[in-house]
Amino acid sequence: MLLTITTTHRPATDLGYLLHKNPGRFQSFTLPFGRADVFYPEATADRCTAALLLDIDPVGLTRPKAGASSNAGWLQQYVNDRPYVASSYLSVGIASVFNSALAGNSRERPELAQQAIPLEAQLPTVPSREGPGLIRQLFEPLGYAVEIQEHALDARFPEWGASPGFGVDLKGTVRLRDLLAHLYILLPVLDDAKHYWIGDDEVDKLLRFAAGWLSEHPHQELISARYLKRQRSLVRQALAQLSDDNQADPDAVTERGQHDEERLENPLRLGEQRIQAVLTALRETGATRVLDLGCGEGNLLRELLREPAFRSITGVDVSHRALETAHARLRMDNLPDAQRERITLFQGSLTYQDRRLSGYDAAVGMEVIEHIDPSRLDAMEAVLFGVAQPGSVIITTPNSEYNALFENLPPGEFRHRDHRFEWTRRQFQDWAGGVAGRRRYDVRFQGIGPEHPAHGAPTQMGVFTR
Ligand code: SAH
Repeated sequence: MLLTITTTHRPATDLGYLLHKNPGRFQSFTLPFGRADVFYPEATADRCTAALLLDIDPVGLTRPKAGASSNAGWLQQYVNDRPYVASSYLSVGIASVFNSALAGNSRERPELAQQAIPLEAQLPTVPSREGPGLIRQLFEPLGYAVEIQEHALDARFPEWGASPGFGVDLKGTVRLRDLLAHLYILLPVLDDAKHYWIGDDEVDKLLRFAAGWLSEHPHQELISARYLKRQRSLVRQALAQLSDDNQADPDAVTERGQHDEERLENPLRLGEQRIQAVLTALRETGATRVLDLGCGEGNLLRELLREPAFRSITGVDVSHRALETAHARLRMDNLPDAQRERITLFQGSLTYQDRRLSGYDAAVGMEVIEHIDPSRLDAMEAVLFGVAQPGSVIITTPNSEYNALFENLPPGEFRHRDHRFEWTRRQFQDWAGGVAGRRRYDVRFQGIGPEHPAHGAPTQMGVFTR
């Protein structure tokens, strides 16, 4: 298995300093599963290529290791693709042999290690049982130009079809540490092999090497799930921490944006009207167990607590910070027991399957969907309407047609800087109607706030019932 990394950043031979491997030497390393060689097929000032060649010992792999449990058949243990495809073994090779580079350290060229430079990685066999599309989906959002070569499974037997292994060439202007981290995480994700061992420290590794890019990646859930081999609790742990990372700043963005939005909407006392409209809709459904998704700082929760009919109230948000504020504002530590027992807060995301979201009569998502990336709306639909399946769902979101009437909002801007979109009435109704049809709910719509004859009301609400 071979990985080559090429740069044309001048002097290109600085690649040797970045990798902590002298271009003039051939070096070998012993790894737990075989041998790694590092050498430079070319090393000039214009262009320099480092090669990492892994020689995996398939027989050595069958020897039992501490912590590993293997139930694969004997033949499979000896005859397998492990020596030939880029997999988690290559990740281990990268982490062992290019350890400092992966950490972004270079004794001789510390600034260069932090600089994006033209780099190209070539891998002769990247496994992707889903075909070449997934390889693109994983690497292109990270800014690489991706070239893929398809191979026949066996050139002598074309009828056997295409090989699930692809030649991959990635070109980009990135920091070397990022290129290595992308490969470290994404090669095992593409390989999706059953047999490698996953422990708690894999969550740490995922978070460490994924810092700064995974939380923005459109396929972050697929990546986490596969990297952690779909072990639910580990995946959940990773995603929760990831959204924390993501929120470190976005939290602040959300809070700052919140104030802008309030300034805009305050004269209409829209926040209050929204809560009243949601409460009325909730009462009509007869719900007693209510979920407030994206509860934020707890504005709706406070009102729900005032009505004994809502016997069980749960607030969920991705932001720890918002939940802490909600906890304080609701004075949860000082509530009388009878009240305290009615309310629960927990951190979670409504784009990720979570058993804790099931078993409610009604769920509210008040001013939340517009904070969700459009590419994640299908995931939200599956979680909320497919898995959690509350008896009714109440969703409110801005009506973008009304924006023209806000004097302080420049045309084309959103009300809140964390909004990923703002929908017209038509767009919201199309989306909600589609969801209702697919998920066997009925949906009705209502405007909230002063109704303008042409632009409609500032907020729109959809009430889904089963
Ligand atoms: N519903 C509250 C807060 C609205 S602000 C109110 O109307 O006052 C939007 C909230 O949604 C923020 O608190 C944000 O942290 C939360 N949020 C954004 N994406 C989320 C997700 N995927 N899952 C859960 N909460 C989310």
